[in-house]
Amino acid sequence: MFLMYDRRILIFHCSFVAASALNMINLPEEGYIKYSIAFHEEKLDRGICDTELIECRNTLHQLKLIGVYPDGVGYGNISRRSGEHNQFVISGTQTGNITSATEDHFSLVSHFEIKNNSLTCSGKVKASSEALTHAAFYEAYTNINAVIHVHHFLLWKKLLHIISTTDEKILYGTPAMANAVKRLLQTEKLQKEKILVMAGHSEGIFTFGNSLQEAFIILMQYFESKYY
Ligand SMILES: [Zn+2]
Repeated sequence: MFLMYDRRILIFHCSFVAASALNMINLPEEGYIKYSIAFHEEKLDRGICDTELIECRNTLHQLKLIGVYPDGVGYGNISRRSGEHNQFVISGTQTGNITSATEDHFSLVSHFEIKNNSLTCSGKVKASSEALTHAAFYEAYTNINAVIHVHHFLLWKKLLHIISTTDEKILYGTPAMANAVKRLLQTEKLQKEKILVMAGHSEGIFTFGNSLQEAFIILMQYFESKYY
């Protein structure tokens, strides 16, 4: 199955993936993981991370909506619900420099607890530092099946306080951010527009949808709308 949007083509396929060592780390640096993590390093089973998700991530990287800053800190991430109990697959931490990502650059989040700021994931890489914010979307509504987080300064600045916006005091990758997202998700405005910006996370924009296609198209509508 193919999704065509404008000049871009996203290929829909499935490949499955698989996931054993257990480490606990907690790193505080900006741009890096802030949550407590139980990480099983192993190759994901085929099919857990499909071609559509990989192609969508790589398209966003080409558009520089996902990437890496000159100081080496990566930005942007993408996820999709996988299986039951709010599991999801998300691009890995510190993969923003990868031009052509593969399934080895994604991680399966099999369990999370927002209030404890902790999660369990598996793959060749650890989950993105913003995984718990993605988790908030999946926990809030079972019909949210994909979440995209990108950085774009001009679009972010233009959309601040026009679309749903998290408070500037709330920092990325924190339980406070996850809870702020969940509160906004209860509003008619965000349920309708499916896009939000984070005032306390410069350049940070989230879109989501019932499908990856929907989340991607919403983002592109703003990105290409001369909105900025
Ligand atoms: Zn971000």
